[in-house]
Amino acid sequence: MESEDRPTIAGLLDKIRAYHPGADLDLVRLTYDFAAEAHKGQVRKSGEPYIVHPLAAAHYLADLKIDPVIICATLLHDVPEDTAVTLADIEKNFGAEIASLVRGITKLGKLKYRGVERYIENLRKMFVAMAEDVRVMIIKFADRIHNLKTLEALPPQKRYRVALESLEIYAPIANRLGMDEMKGELEDLSFQYVYPKDYQRVKALRAEKLSGKEEYFRHIIDKARRELEKSGIKSVQIYGRSKRLYSLYQKLLRKDNEIAKIYDMVAIRIIVPTIADCYAALGILHNLWKPLKGRIKDYISQAKPNGYQSLHTTVFSDDGEIIEFQIRTVEMHEEAEYGVAAHWHYDERGARLPKKEIKWVQELAEIQKDILNKLSDLEEMKVDFLQTRIFVFTPQGDVIDLPEGATPVDFAYHIHTEVGNKCAGALINDKLVSLDTELKNGDVVDIIVDKNRRGPSQDWANIVRTHTARMHIKSQLKQQEKTALTRWLKSVLPRK
Ligand code: MN
Repeated sequence: MESEDRPTIAGLLDKIRAYHPGADLDLVRLTYDFAAEAHKGQVRKSGEPYIVHPLAAAHYLADLKIDPVIICATLLHDVPEDTAVTLADIEKNFGAEIASLVRGITKLGKLKYRGVERYIENLRKMFVAMAEDVRVMIIKFADRIHNLKTLEALPPQKRYRVALESLEIYAPIANRLGMDEMKGELEDLSFQYVYPKDYQRVKALRAEKLSGKEEYFRHIIDKARRELEKSGIKSVQIYGRSKRLYSLYQKLLRKDNEIAKIYDMVAIRIIVPTIADCYAALGILHNLWKPLKGRIKDYISQAKPNGYQSLHTTVFSDDGEIIEFQIRTVEMHEEAEYGVAAHWHYDERGARLPKKEIKWVQELAEIQKDILNKLSDLEEMKVDFLQTRIFVFTPQGDVIDLPEGATPVDFAYHIHTEVGNKCAGALINDKLVSLDTELKNGDVVDIIVDKNRRGPSQDWANIVRTHTARMHIKSQLKQQEKTALTRWLKSVLPRK
């Protein structure tokens, strides 16, 4: 980024003022000053002062007209992790709400892709953060989007990993949360690093397909607008949007690379006041141009699983050109673009959208299913993610987090596979307990190891709550069975 493009705090305050005149701008400026002071002297890999990063992420959210409280937390998001300033300091200065958001981000940490184990661990952390406060994910996405925009400063190997993780983990989560705008950004920014050749190819293809078409689309848009106005549909917004690159790439893969089969390279979006207007507009379009068979989709009466609502239709427009229309209300549009973030988004009148009831547990379960299904063999892990976590300690004071209902056996396997296999007993807070005792928050757990122990007992599989423990127990038991079988075979088979 050139220095003249560098985001400024003045620019940020202007943006917020424009969509939310009542915002506490002093607070925004104070959090900025605080973060700038804390990061003073730190530079990013690109050589820029560190504060440019949180400031750019804050600008991105201000462009989406997000609640200033979230923007304050975004400005502070790297302070506890990277500077001497603590969360307690942040809470003292800016209150519990902002501190809690920053804590959520800090708990997520700087995620690094280190093989599938870490991958899963990162996912788990994200699900926990989401369950606690989904606003944390909004900040995390803004953080990641700016990191992707400045990825050039990193070595190629690292670029690839960050981009891959964004494409495989972040984007699907954003999608599941209905945050189309962020999902699209995450995908398109990552695309060029993960599949550079395809990126160039698809980019050229789209440019070629769209070149010289502007005039034509303008004509179609004007015609549609005139007809809608004639029929009395008010405050109509109509515009063309071209398909995002990664989404085009995905579709090409599904359609055997035949670009001719892609009808929504450019779609025309029509935004109207009410649901009745949506259906009326659909009728008007069909009166004007003949619809393609089987291409009328009513996502208003039947929303997509992530909550997306709109009417879609594809028509033979003038000169036989095939064009897709997407019709929706203002509210549906905001939901489609911002998803759950829409609940912290201010609309044109500066009012926050009404909070819809969000069925969190169900949504989280769905998201986890979507993503984890991709990682075969890890089916059982889903169970872990959904459980509430407890925190217990080793005698050395290390914190171990486990699902609620976990037992000393889970704890033992969490420490080390061999500690699990050789586990002969346990002390909780210095008291000898049975191995099926449920651990409670804050317990100090000490595992008694018997080096001569052959392995886990059969019934352990029933008393553990973690996937890791269950997996180790099963494989160990299988191993034992095999050894026993071999021993028996040896004893009954005649020796040569
Ligand atoms: Mn950051």
